[in-house]
Amino acid sequence: MRRVTIFGATGSIGQNTIDLIARDPEQYDVVALTGARNIAQLANDAISLRAEVAVTSEPSLLPALKQALAGSDVEAAAGPEALIEAAARPADWVMSAIVGAAGLAPGLRALEQGTCLALANKETLVCGGSLVLRTARDHKANLLPVDSEHSAVFQALVGENIDAVERIVITASGGAFRDHPIEALANVTVAEASSHPNWDMGQRITIDSASMFNKALELIETKEYFGISPDRIEAVIHPESLIHALVGFADGALMAHLGPPDMRHAIGYALNWPERTELPVDRLDLAKIGQLTFRDPDLQRYPALKLAREVMAAGGLTGAAFNAAKEIALDGFIDGRIGFLDMAEVVARVLDRMSSTDGLENAPFSLDNILSVDALARTRAKEAIATTYS
Ligand code: NDP
Repeated sequence: MRRVTIFGATGSIGQNTIDLIARDPEQYDVVALTGARNIAQLANDAISLRAEVAVTSEPSLLPALKQALAGSDVEAAAGPEALIEAAARPADWVMSAIVGAAGLAPGLRALEQGTCLALANKETLVCGGSLVLRTARDHKANLLPVDSEHSAVFQALVGENIDAVERIVITASGGAFRDHPIEALANVTVAEASSHPNWDMGQRITIDSASMFNKALELIETKEYFGISPDRIEAVIHPESLIHALVGFADGALMAHLGPPDMRHAIGYALNWPERTELPVDRLDLAKIGQLTFRDPDLQRYPALKLAREVMAAGGLTGAAFNAAKEIALDGFIDGRIGFLDMAEVVARVLDRMSSTDGLENAPFSLDNILSVDALARTRAKEAIATTYS
């Protein structure tokens, strides 16, 4: 039996992970499941999978969780410390699928116990960069990408020499507004931005796909995970979302990874790695698909991509500031305080202000420094929203 823990179990990635595990219950011993506000789902899954512990990140919801788990053997716990305690419980495989920078600390703690960490939470590498890689190395932990693009690159690199890689191309659907008139973007609604043409995902990543902040995070994640210089990393719009990434080699070969837009492929690959076993995903019918198309992203439509280039060039703790400002700008858009295009404006302002005053590029990479930069960037982003848009 493999001991598994799922952070963000109640979310889109978490539920897809549970779908795979629940198909083969004899193979898995579930250690911890975590969520935030969806107590009913968390308790149901914890009881049916016989988890040791269920954790909500929200301390105020502990009584509700205890009540939902009453009569079962599942322990209930709550709050950030309880998440860290869950990450410290020995497990062979841990899914990191909390949304946002909140996923960083539990992921680091799980790496410290030398587990295999399946990383859906892209913010972990965007914010934690070299600290995360060093922690994995020091504790002989495996860090496996679950973002579909990074899983695709990882798979294309099996048996290859990274020094022979000329470029990495990650694909983007273009999100909800890829064919929307640019003039109309300022007035799009949260409901419109929350609908993805190809993928069924959580609301925050779906809106980030429309703005391409999601792709911006993925470019930074690619640089961190694969150690490739930014000028060798490209994003291309591929509306069909069937090729997830391509790796170009020194001899001119370009290896593409294709698969249906179903996260259970990347999750299942990480779950079964280094083996491949059958997965319940659709098989592609190439003749029916007919053609695959590509186009360059327009930086006027997707200013987040330009910001990602600046973040990759600056390095250091800039990724943590970028992500935190983005999370606050996204809250502002969801709450109706700022418009869709204002999100990139807010983030650009925070980065400008912090790079000139807060020494982001040279500060040492420690969890404390990352969390301080994260907190400062959130404050600066809230100030930018309050002073400009209220
Ligand atoms: P969801 O919004 O669907 O789920 C997020 C999960 O995190 C839920 O379990 C939620 O709990 C929990 N959560 C929310 N806030 C906190 C917090 N402050 N502390 C602890 N837990 C919290 O997100 P997704 O599943 O879509 O995405 C998860 C991560 O995976 C993100 O980093 C995303 O970028 C990445 N990813 C997602 C993909 C997808 O297809 N969805 C594809 C590739 C990467 P609750 O629901 O109970 O409130």
